[in-house]
Amino acid sequence: MPNDNITAEPLIPAIRTDADGQHYLAGSRCSGCTAIFAGGRSVCARCFTRDRMSEVRLATRGTVYAFTIVHRSFPGVRTPFVAVTVDLSDGAHIRGTLENVAPTPESIPFDMPVELVFTEVVPPGAAGRAYLSYHFLPANGTTSGGFR
Ligand SMILES: [Zn+2]
Repeated sequence: MPNDNITAEPLIPAIRTDADGQHYLAGSRCSGCTAIFAGGRSVCARCFTRDRMSEVRLATRGTVYAFTIVHRSFPGVRTPFVAVTVDLSDGAHIRGTLENVAPTPESIPFDMPVELVFTEVVPPGAAGRAYLSYHFLPANGTTSGGFR
């Protein structure tokens, strides 16, 4: 993950930037059962251990677990887009959008390898203010369905 020099404020608290300027997603790891979850939490959803979660840096690669093609969204959000749930390689699951694929079911196989990337976005209603956000791309820079 190269240093992209994005200095905008994170869109969500789980987006972090390390001392070298590398962006990452923060997760929580249970010291009781080793399960990893996206974001911060104090109780493990697998073994229900309380207050034994520590922060970890989430994986940047994973596979598509589920997806939906969104045709209607908030005003200002371009549609259609592909909303995905990704199984990260460290065991965490996270939602996001998948870009650089045609928004058709035929273009998105389940278990499709994807990678996490960080970008600057200007959300609708943000009065032009940019934020640091993330999305997924097909892994290895490939595209699917001839869509860019
Ligand atoms: Zn646990």
